Amino acid sequence: MNRVPHAKENWYTTKQITDRIIGIAEWGHTEEVLSFLLIGDHEAAVIDTCCGFFSLKEIVQQHTDLPCKVINTHQHFDHIGNNFEFDQVLMPDHPENHTRAKEGLSAEFCAEFVEPKQFWGKVPAGLPDPFSIKPFPQATFFKDGDILELEPFKLEVLHTPGHCADHCCFYERNMGILFGGDNLYDGPIFLQEKGGLAEYRQSIERLCALPGLKQILPSHNGFNFPMSKLHQIRDALAEIKTAELEETVVIDGPMLLMPVPYAA
Ligand SMILES: [Zn+2]
Repeated sequence: MNRVPHAKENWYTTKQITDRIIGIAEWGHTEEVLSFLLIGDHEAAVIDTCCGFFSLKEIVQQHTDLPCKVINTHQHFDHIGNNFEFDQVLMPDHPENHTRAKEGLSAEFCAEFVEPKQFWGKVPAGLPDPFSIKPFPQATFFKDGDILELEPFKLEVLHTPGHCADHCCFYERNMGILFGGDNLYDGPIFLQEKGGLAEYRQSIERLCALPGLKQILPSHNGFNFPMSKLHQIRDALAEIKTAELEETVVIDGPMLLMPVPYAA
């Protein structure tokens, strides 16, 4: 299977996860980020909107005629790139996110994300030039414990910092499905150098305690994240005796914990 698309026409790879959830992956960029399209009874939603190199709304419209809103896990560029395409955007309530919604991210800031080395193989033709994250002033904000309703989905907001201050996961309790964002995926998991370890530990404990959890959908590197790996992360965290994450910790194969000096 050719896993690395290089053209606008086949930039996104989709996968039916359940009868109402479709995974949308961007395998051609080294971020290998995913969005998830949820088809409700009366409206749809995408959890995150990929990097914004090519339209995500076009992909959504291939799957549903319903109006579609955005629900963001956090404000990093690779999760908000196509927010501007949608009429309604919901994101975690954090001071920085209000600025991000108003201003987006400049072409200067985004330049490194479109360097040739950031793509697997060829750089796709037709990239926005210059590439930037467009503002999305239509955004509104949610908090920990809020329930985002999209019948039959009821997404419970779990503020789960560690990767970044605003990070949220979403739990669909009746289905036992967790949208794990950048807290859970197979690859290097980046934690804020200062305070990230303690926050992440609490976030993982919280996720491990979710009643009825059956399936984890991650935001990078694959359409599924085995439950056993959540427990491996918890066990690895128990082994770390320092207050801050001082160096990279290998959990299992490509799954690592890495300290990163994030501003947010
Ligand atoms: Zn990410």
